[in-house]
Amino acid sequence: MVKEFGNFVGGVWSTDPQCGFFDDENPACRGSSVARFQASRPDAITAAVDAATRAAGEWRKSDLVRRQDIVDRLLSLMRAKADELALIITRENGKTIREARAEVQSALIEGQYHARQASAFYGHTLPSGTQGMTGWLQYEPLGVVGVISPWNFPVNVVCRKAIPAVLTGNAIVHKPASYTPWSAVFLAELAEQAGFPPGVWNCVTGAGSAVGLALVDDPRVRAITFTGSTEVGRSIHERAARNLARTQLELGGKNATIVLADADLDAAADAIVTAGFACAGQWCTSTSRILAEKDAYGRLMDRLVSRCERMNVGNPLDESTALGPVAGPSQYRNILAAIDLAKNQGARMLTGGALEGQAGAEGYYIRPTLFSQVSPEMALFSDEVFGPVLAATPVRSLDEALELANRSVYGLSSSIFTSNIKSAHRYIREIQAGMAHVNMHSGFKDPSMPFGGWKESGHGLPENDQCGLEFFLQRKAVYIRD
Ligand code: NAP
Ligand code: MG
Repeated sequence: MVKEFGNFVGGVWSTDPQCGFFDDENPACRGSSVARFQASRPDAITAAVDAATRAAGEWRKSDLVRRQDIVDRLLSLMRAKADELALIITRENGKTIREARAEVQSALIEGQYHARQASAFYGHTLPSGTQGMTGWLQYEPLGVVGVISPWNFPVNVVCRKAIPAVLTGNAIVHKPASYTPWSAVFLAELAEQAGFPPGVWNCVTGAGSAVGLALVDDPRVRAITFTGSTEVGRSIHERAARNLARTQLELGGKNATIVLADADLDAAADAIVTAGFACAGQWCTSTSRILAEKDAYGRLMDRLVSRCERMNVGNPLDESTALGPVAGPSQYRNILAAIDLAKNQGARMLTGGALEGQAGAEGYYIRPTLFSQVSPEMALFSDEVFGPVLAATPVRSLDEALELANRSVYGLSSSIFTSNIKSAHRYIREIQAGMAHVNMHSGFKDPSMPFGGWKESGHGLPENDQCGLEFFLQRKAVYIRD
C-alpha cells in the first residue's frame, strides 16, 4: 500500500475527501509510485493563506533569537535525517544518491549562513545626524510569502527561500513541484517538529495551474519567491503585479563555457562534464553551451567524448553511478525531442542519446550527450533543454566567443577557461550573466554571494547573500524629534 500524504496548514495535517491524490513516480522505475499526495484545489490555498495571515501577526513580533533557535532546530533535524532526506530525493527525483546527499549538505550550509547573517543584517541602522532628530532604517517583514519551487533541487531550493523568509518574520505557504512533493512534505514535518508556531510554515501540494495560480492571485500574499521556467515565471510576475506583490524569480538558462586555446584542456573538460551532467543536466547553472577556440576545439571534443563514455549511467541508488534518470516522463520526451531536432537541423551527435537495454526500458535514462558543430541558428544553441545535452560551437577568438555567449535571452551563469589574465578580466567585464567563473565550472556557488540571473534568467533580488534576506523585508524610514 502506497502511503498517502495530506497538506500541512495551520499546524495541522489534513486531507480533503473531495480531492483526489496524485502519484509521485520514481523515475528509475517507469509507472511506479513512491507515495501519493493531495491534488488540492484552490480553496486549500485560501485556507493556508488564512492560517499564514493569522500566524504572521504574532510571528513578526517574536524575537529574532527565537526565530533563529527554531531554524537551528530545523537544521539539526535535517542533519539527523540527512540520509532519509537524500533517499527521498533520489527516489522521487532520480538524481544519484551522492548528488542527493550533496544537495542536503548544501541546504544545511546555506541555512546556517542565513541564520547567522540575520543577526548582522539588523545591525544596520542609520543615525541621520540632523539637528535635534534621529532617524534610522527599520526593516519589517512583508507578512505572508508564497514559495513556489521546482523539482530539480527539491530540498536546497526550498530551504534557500523558506529559511530566510521565516527568519525575517514572515509566514510561508509552500507549493512544491508535482514531480517531487515528498521532500517538501518531509521538510514540513521537520518544521513542525522544530516548533514553528502553527501557520508559520504551511505546505499545500497540487498542480501549479490550480494551487500555484491561486497562491499568486491571493492579494494577501505580499511576495512570491519562485524558481522554475521562464515561461511560468513571466506569468507569475504579470499576475503578482496586479496585487503589486514582489517577485523573486530564478528562471531558465543556456549557460556558456568558453574555452580558449591557452586553457588547461583537461581541467576544462572535467569542469564541463561536472557542470553539464550533474543531476542529469537538470541544473539551472549547468553548462549547456561550449564555445571553444578552433585551435583547441578538436582536442577538447576528444577529451569530452572519452569522459562522457566513461560515465556510468544507471540505478541512482548505486554508489558508483555518475548519471541517474531524468526526473520524469515529460522531461524524458522533451529532452529526446530536442536531441532529434538538433540532429535534423544538422548538428553532429558525437555521443549520447537514450539509454538502450533493460535499464533504459525500466527508467527515464538518457546518456551524456554531446553535439558538435552547433551553429547559432539551431534550436539547440538557444533553447534550454534542461537535460544531459551539451552543444559545442567552434569560435575564432575571444571576441566571437563573447558575442555568441551573450547572444541569448538568458544570462544566468557562465565560465571561461584560459591561462591569460587579460582574457579572464575581459570576460568578467563583458559577459552578460549573474555568475561568472574563471577556470571553474559554471555551477559553483557560495551562500555569501548572490545567486540570480540577468535578462530572462531572473528578476527581483537574487537569493543568498544579504539580498536573500532583504527580499523578504520592507523598509520603514523612522524619524524621531528629540
Ligand atoms: P516549472 O514548470 O516552471 O514549475 C516550477 C513550479 O511552478 C512548480 O512548482 C510548478 O508546479 C509551478 N507552476 C507551474 N505552473 C504554474 C502557474 N501557472 N502558476 C504558478 N505556479 C506554477 O519549472 P520546472 O520544470 O519545475 O523546473 C525547471 C525549470 O526551472 C528550468 O527552466 C530551470 O532552468 C529552472 N530553474 C532555475 C533555477 C534558478 O535558480 N535560476 C534553479 C532551478 C531550476 P507543478 O509542478 O505542479 O507544475
Ligand atoms: Mg517524482
